Amino acid sequence: MKCRRCGEVAVIDLPRHNAAFCKPCFLEYFARQVQQAISKFRMFARHHRVMVAVSGGKDSLALWHWLASHGQPTVGLYIDLGIAEYSRVSRERCEAFAQRMGLQLEVVDVRQETGFSTPALAARVRRTTCSVCGLVKRYFTNRTARRLQVAAVATGHNLDDEASTLLGNVLHWQMGYLARQHPVLPAADGLVRRVKPLFTLTERETLAYCLLQGIDFLEEECPHARGATSILYKELLNRLELISPGTKHQFLLGFLRRARPSFSQAEPPPELGACRECGEPSTAEVCAYCRMLSGARRADDAFATKENKGGIT
Ligand code: AMP
Ligand code: ZN
Repeated sequence: MKCRRCGEVAVIDLPRHNAAFCKPCFLEYFARQVQQAISKFRMFARHHRVMVAVSGGKDSLALWHWLASHGQPTVGLYIDLGIAEYSRVSRERCEAFAQRMGLQLEVVDVRQETGFSTPALAARVRRTTCSVCGLVKRYFTNRTARRLQVAAVATGHNLDDEASTLLGNVLHWQMGYLARQHPVLPAADGLVRRVKPLFTLTERETLAYCLLQGIDFLEEECPHARGATSILYKELLNRLELISPGTKHQFLLGFLRRARPSFSQAEPPPELGACRECGEPSTAEVCAYCRMLSGARRADDAFATKENKGGIT
């Protein structure tokens, strides 16, 4: 297999582009995809400081590595969700990466902030760990981004993530989610701008980037691994991609170009005020995070009173 651009021995084939690349040409292809996403969607300017939300996995570390090594001012954010061994190891990966690259990493520890780990919060409010995890991550990401006064928050969402989310949203006709599914969510009333610079690159391509750049990332999925459905959607799209390369890209980019504008017209973004308790943006008087936290504290108190001997695990 030879590189399509220079004829050297290729290290990766990309059927959807009908191409194969050697290491330098793959890295150039990767850079072009990220640069195009940033400039075409006006994600941020070269001098802006961007906060990269990192999980310790391949996508977010590849993103942070790429931005930092292309001269973008960055700060990393890791949210320690308190998910036993998984959080300990992923935090270690982020800290080691930041140290090796000489980059600033902010760590928010959910247990220190709330007094509970994420699974313990979920058990007390009788919700799934994944839904509480999503809420907690959105809340602390925005709060930290405001505190650090960054221009934007960048996440490592890739083409597989975005296409499978789109498939789920279409199958369930989630009108509000469809209206807001976009590589850029503009800043609004206390919400910091959110961007996804890797949204045109596949999981396989971000993996190749990490391997070629020697980035030590965490391979394991979270033990609470988001509903089996999102994995199933990714598998289904991979099967379609195998038969018809380029399907994921066409599905997502076609939606963004042709269909999304009508969804956003039909579903304007909700009005946001400031939460009475914490000041973060909210559609209600008290934000979802504060309501969840007081619910968890009430559950804990009720249990302690009943049993008179401590709380639930
Ligand atoms: P996920 O929802 O786990 O697929 O993650 C999507 C993106 O959210 C990742 O690419 C990261 O940018 C960000 N992210 C996930 N987990 C964390 C975390 N614990 N701390 C900070 N950012 C995270
Ligand atoms: Zn609040």
